[in-house]
Amino acid sequence: MESKLHDTILTSKMILEKLNLLNIRTYWDILLHIPIRYEDLTKVYSINNASIGTQVLIEGAVISANVLHKRTKQLQVKLSDGYSIITLIFLHFYPNYVTQFQVGKKIRAFGEIKLDYFGQKTIFHPKIQTVKDDVLLPESFCAIYSTVSGLSQKQIIKIVDEALKLLNVPEILPQTFLTQNTYLSFNDAVRVLHQLTPQQFADKLHIKALERLKIDELLAQQLIMLDIYQYKHKNKAIKLKNNHTLTHKLIEQLPFKLTTAQQKVLKEIYLDLNKNTQMNRLLQGDVGSGKTIVATLSMLVAIENGFQSCIVAPTEILAEQHYNKICELLHDFSINIIWLAGSLSAKEKKQVYERIANGDGQIIIGTHAVFQEQVKFKNLAVVVVDEQHRFGVKQRLTLQDKGVNPHHLMMSATPIPRSLAMSYYADLDVSVIDELPVGRKPIKTILINNQRKSEVLFFVNAQTSKGRQVYWVCPLIEESEKLNLENAENLFAFLQSKLPKLNIGLIHGKLKTIEKADVMAKFKTGEIQLLVATSVIEVGVDVPNASIMIIEHSERMGLSSLHQLRGRVGRGSVESTCILLYHNPLSDVAKKRLKAIYENNDGFKIAHEDLLIRGPGEILGDRQSGVPLLKFANLEVDLHLIPQAKELARHLVTHNPESAKLHAQLWFNAQEFYLKT
Ligand code: ADP
Ligand code: MG
Repeated sequence: MESKLHDTILTSKMILEKLNLLNIRTYWDILLHIPIRYEDLTKVYSINNASIGTQVLIEGAVISANVLHKRTKQLQVKLSDGYSIITLIFLHFYPNYVTQFQVGKKIRAFGEIKLDYFGQKTIFHPKIQTVKDDVLLPESFCAIYSTVSGLSQKQIIKIVDEALKLLNVPEILPQTFLTQNTYLSFNDAVRVLHQLTPQQFADKLHIKALERLKIDELLAQQLIMLDIYQYKHKNKAIKLKNNHTLTHKLIEQLPFKLTTAQQKVLKEIYLDLNKNTQMNRLLQGDVGSGKTIVATLSMLVAIENGFQSCIVAPTEILAEQHYNKICELLHDFSINIIWLAGSLSAKEKKQVYERIANGDGQIIIGTHAVFQEQVKFKNLAVVVVDEQHRFGVKQRLTLQDKGVNPHHLMMSATPIPRSLAMSYYADLDVSVIDELPVGRKPIKTILINNQRKSEVLFFVNAQTSKGRQVYWVCPLIEESEKLNLENAENLFAFLQSKLPKLNIGLIHGKLKTIEKADVMAKFKTGEIQLLVATSVIEVGVDVPNASIMIIEHSERMGLSSLHQLRGRVGRGSVESTCILLYHNPLSDVAKKRLKAIYENNDGFKIAHEDLLIRGPGEILGDRQSGVPLLKFANLEVDLHLIPQAKELARHLVTHNPESAKLHAQLWFNAQEFYLKT
C-alpha cells in the first residue's frame, strides 16, 4: 500500500506528475483522496419537479438553439420534456458548440435550477449528455474531487475505479468495536465515500464512513504519541526525593501563600521527580499565575539531592528576569547560581563552562546558550524550559543528552485548548495552574480607533501624574527588523514631543543586552515612566507598578500575543487598563480577534477562540515538525472521538503491535516517529 502508485495502477507519467501536485503518491493516497462533493446523476427529474436552487438532472428534446448578442455573446438552448420548457445558457463556448444542439435531439442537462427575469426555469452552464438508448443511468453519485489544472475529473475517477477494484485492506479495528459503534469496515467506508449511492446517502452512510476514517486517523496519531510517550518514559532518570529542607525554607520565606493550584501542580511534579524514569511534564498557567516559583521549587529538589538544575528562557530579557528573581528568592541559601547567555564574553563563557562542568555551579539560568555543545554538566537532574512553545522540538531534545536524562518541566503561558493538548501533547503529562493569586484585579480592556490617540495621550498624562507606569508597544513586523526599529523609534520621538514632561524609555531587540538591562532596571525602579517597546517585552516581564498597556496596531497581532502583552499589567494592587489601538478598515479575522480579546480575560477561553479562528495548524507552529496534522478529523467537532482513539491505541499496542506499527506508518508515513522499541 505504501508502494508507488504506478506499481499498482498504470497511469501516464503526465498524470502521475499531476497527482503528485495533489500529494498523491501511493495507492494508499488515492484511496484517501475522497470526494469534496457529489452530483446526483442517478435520477432524471421532470422540469416541473425540479425545484429552484437544487442541482438536478433533467432530460428533454432541443426545441431551439440560438447565439444571442446581448451584453455579451451567449448561447441559449431551449429544452422541452413534453410538459414544460427550460432554458440552458452558455456564456463561454466555442463557435461549433452550437452544432450539437440540433432541434429534436434528446439530451440531458445537469446543473442548478434558477429563475430568469421572466420567471422561466434556467440552468447556466449545465453539464450536457447525449441520451443514447443503451446507456443506463449510473447507480452511484458522481464524485467530484479536488484537482489541479490539467487533471480532469474523468481521469481521477478512472484511477479511483482502478484502485477500488484492488481494494483489500486488512481490517485493523476489532470486530466488537465496529459492531458496538456501528462503524463500517475500512474497505466499505472507502467504497461508500467514492461511490456513494442514493440509498446509502439517504441512510447517512457517508457520514458513518467519514467518521470511520477519522477514527483511523486519530488512532494513528495516538499510536505515534503513545510510542513517543512510552519511549520517553522508559528513559532512566535520577530519582529525586523531596527532603523538604530547601523547599520548605523557601516556602516559609515567601511573602505570600502558594495558591491551591500551585500546591497541586507541585505535588504532581514532586511525584514525578521521585521516580526513576524521566519526567516530561508541561506546566500550563495563564500569565501571572505564578509559574516561576513552581519552577524554582522544582529545581531546589535537585539541589537538595546534590544535583544540578537549570532553567532556560527564549529571550535574554526573560532569562535575566529569572536570574534576578531567583537570586532574590534564594538570597540566603548559599546556592551557586550561574548566568549563561550568548552575550557573555569568550573569557566569561570559558569560566562558566568550567564551573558548570565541575559542579560548582548549581543552578544555571540562561538562554538557548545552555543548549550548546560546549556546555557539559556535572550532574544535571532537572531542566526547566520556560515559554516552551518558543523553542523548537529539536532544541528541547538536545538537552536530553545533557545529563543522565534530566527530568523535564516545560512551562507555557499560552494555554493549549484541551482538544489540542489531548492529541498533540499526548507525549507530555500536563499540569495546569488554573487559578490566579488572590487580589488580582481584572484588567480593563478598551478598544480605541487610532484617530482618537489624543485622548489616549491625555489619559497617559493623567495616570503618570498619579505615579502609574505605562507600556506602549509597537507590533512586530515579521518581514523587517529595520521597520520594527523605525516604528519604535518614530513612536518614541512622537511621544517625547507630545508628552515632554515624562521620562520616556525605549527598548527593542537591537539594543545590546546591557543596554536592555539598563532600561528595564530604570523602568522597574520607576525612573522611566513610559516604556516604548517592540514586542521584546511580550513574554514574562514582571513590573508590578506598571498598570497601563497600550498596543499600537493591535489589529495586526495574534490573539496569544495580545493576551501575553495584556498580562504584563494587572500585577500590582491598582486597577490596570489595556488600550488596544486599531486602524480601520478591519479584516474579518482582525475583528474576531479583537472581539475575543475584549470579551475574555481567561487565557484558556482565548486559546479556544484562537483555535476557532486559526485552526490547529497555525497554532501548533513549530510542533508541526514533530507531529503530523490531521486531514479528516477536526479537533473541535470530533473531540468525542479522541478518547475512543486513545483506548483503541492502547488496545492495539498490547494485542497487535505489528498492525499498530503498520497503521501509524500508513497514515502518517510515520517511520521516523516509531523510535526504536
Ligand atoms: P508567570 O506564571 O506569568 O510566569 P510569575 O511567576 O512571573 O507569573 O508570577 C507573577 C507574579 O505573581 C510575581 O510577582 C510573583 O511573585 C507573584 N506570585 C506568584 N505566586 C503568588 C501567590 N501564590 N500569591 C501572590 N503572588 C504570587
Ligand atoms: Mg513567566
